[in-house]
Amino acid sequence: MMRDNIFQKIIDRQLPAQIVYEDDHCLALRDINPQAPVHVLVIPKAKVIPTHADITESDKELLGHLHLTAAKVARQLGIDDGYRIVINCRERAGQTVPHLHFHLLGGRDMRWPPG
Ligand code: 5GP
Repeated sequence: MMRDNIFQKIIDRQLPAQIVYEDDHCLALRDINPQAPVHVLVIPKAKVIPTHADITESDKELLGHLHLTAAKVARQLGIDDGYRIVINCRERAGQTVPHLHFHLLGGRDMRWPPG
């Protein structure tokens, strides 16, 4: 399991981060290069899933938990009037960190399609 990625270091407190929410299963932290006034990453803690394409049946509960957490953090940060959740899957889609994460973006109007 790839445990030496940057998010694992944040989980292990080897790197600092602006953590906005944490529980036994996941961590939510501010993105270092925000693409919106609120840009938070929701990441699983106990298990490294490299990409969205690697999820399996055994991840169902964790994935539901990540969604519930994203909704909770959106309320907590006051962006539940409108937000976007993005998962970049693999390099072609812009993924740079091989540790599954949800981008939670809000605090501004957003266009569609995203391009
Ligand atoms: P990806 O491109 O893999 O979908 O998303 C990775 C995200 O992690 C990017 O938005 C990037 O700005 C963010 N990121 C990369 N390194 C760090 C870091 O050290 N700290 C924080 N808080 N975010 C990071």
